Amino acid sequence: MKCGQCGQPDTKVIESRDAGDSTAIRRRRACPECGYRFTTYERLERPQLIVVKNNGNRELFNRDKLLAGLYRACEKTPVTSLQLEKMIADVEQCLYACGEPEVSSSKLGEMAMERLSALNEVAYVRFASVYRRFKDIAGFEKELSEIRDRKVEPFKA
Ligand SMILES: [Zn+2]
Repeated sequence: MKCGQCGQPDTKVIESRDAGDSTAIRRRRACPECGYRFTTYERLERPQLIVVKNNGNRELFNRDKLLAGLYRACEKTPVTSLQLEKMIADVEQCLYACGEPEVSSSKLGEMAMERLSALNEVAYVRFASVYRRFKDIAGFEKELSEIRDRKVEPFKA
């Protein structure tokens, strides 16, 4: 890193340490030319995800909102909160890995449903029924028979 004082292109790291919350590293640097000392912070770059809703409105991805919906779907099922936490972490990881700053709410729902279907069928159907707002019982039954036919790899939670 360039010296902030004399502009010399190479400065030396004299100390590196965790900035306290394990999400950043603090480095003390010194310029071998002029002796100027300064501090830099290194952080993981994680842009805020934007969810594009069906009506075209955009909102910030809200992890808690997704989690709340999943909790409701998993009531009175053996699905644990730890499984849900891991599931959301997996969804987030996929979204960050693909590098797209925006995701449609339908894609997000599909990603959650796909993982939920491997965890618990009842929870999946509840979540899907809220999410897709089935207009009639026929649509609901079609969905149900589809997951029963589908061979999915169980989600490793
Ligand atoms: Zn310097």
